[in-house]
Amino acid sequence: MGIFNHPEFDRHESVHYFEDPGSGLKAIIAIHSTALGPAAGGCRRWTYASEDLALTDVLRLSRGMTYKNAVAGLPFGGGKSVILAAERAPKSRALFEAFGRAVDSLNGRYITAEDVGISVDDMHTVRGSTAFVSGLPQTGTSAGGDPSPWTALGVFHGIEAAVAARLGVDSLEGITVAVQGVGHVGVYLCELLHAAGAKLVVADVNAENLRGACALVPAETVAPRDILFSDADVLAPCALGNVLNSQTIPHIRAKVVVGAANNQLATADDGARLTERGILYAPDYVVNAGGVISVAHEYLGKSTEERVRSEVCRIPERLRQIFAEAESSAQPTNVVADELARRIVAHGAPGLAINQTTAGRLIA
Ligand code: NAD
Repeated sequence: MGIFNHPEFDRHESVHYFEDPGSGLKAIIAIHSTALGPAAGGCRRWTYASEDLALTDVLRLSRGMTYKNAVAGLPFGGGKSVILAAERAPKSRALFEAFGRAVDSLNGRYITAEDVGISVDDMHTVRGSTAFVSGLPQTGTSAGGDPSPWTALGVFHGIEAAVAARLGVDSLEGITVAVQGVGHVGVYLCELLHAAGAKLVVADVNAENLRGACALVPAETVAPRDILFSDADVLAPCALGNVLNSQTIPHIRAKVVVGAANNQLATADDGARLTERGILYAPDYVVNAGGVISVAHEYLGKSTEERVRSEVCRIPERLRQIFAEAESSAQPTNVVADELARRIVAHGAPGLAINQTTAGRLIA
């Protein structure tokens, strides 16, 4: 399939392919939009069944970053990168140095950070080849470091807002949450939910991650194939995308879906399917913006953990606005969120915390 007629192309500004035979790097960097600033979005390292699937993933993720950064009020556009990992291939320093050179060759149009399969240490290696990277080891109380706890905090407050809107309760005490995937974000989310009195049902395909989570918090475990259909009030997808689709939605029992995973809806129509079943869906890129808020503040500099916390705590405000507009316009929440994001990209975001001139100067 040609790239211009790819169903997910959506007028990307550019798509870049990189191969470095020395390190084995094969990567794609997609830049969806730089309308609000340099394209910011993480790097995913994954074993894809085909190059086409890697391209589809990076295009969908990259557009999602445009929307996520816009709705979060950040002076950044949207982009994303994927490293195509061979089956069971180990990570190496040379791989991330080569990836850093690839990022650097785009002269700041794309800023990377960690996503699935990438650690803070990997990004530290990338920093050796480029300045256009964030999510680096944190120093003192300045903003930065692993974005996952911030993503989890945003999702946690998103769950509180959605539960209040759909179930009419202002506490998570006794609320059952089914968490799919207890990796970096999922495990922090479980800790926050447990501290708030929620009951947990968890599943993970990685037995070690599952054991690690269950050692931290009391949780019922179920098989990965059953987690989406758990008898829970809330479903929190925190693994990979496409889990909400025409096959799964008819069997979901939760009344609320709020999770960290990107691209939870397989297609935009799946938002309407959830609405028809009376399930309140919190658009993924609105609730999972905590991590990018942290890496953006780190990248722009002179920010603190407290400032990041106060920005992440604004996620429920945005969600409530989307829920209210969805109800008054009788549209699914994903449609309302996408329209809001596109309006912001088209007209520029009012009241940005940090303006674009500052962002441009800092990356120059
Ligand atoms: P991670 O790789 O650390 O964790 C994902 C977990 O899901 C792993 O433990 C994995 O084994 C598990 N998993 C995979 N497939 C599964 C399945 N079918 N059933 C059950 N478990 C399964 O990744 P992460 O950083 O925690 O991110 C999770 C999701 O949130 C991803 O979609 C990511 O893109 C998104 N996200 C992450 C951040 C962040 O700050 N890390 C920010 C925004 C969005």
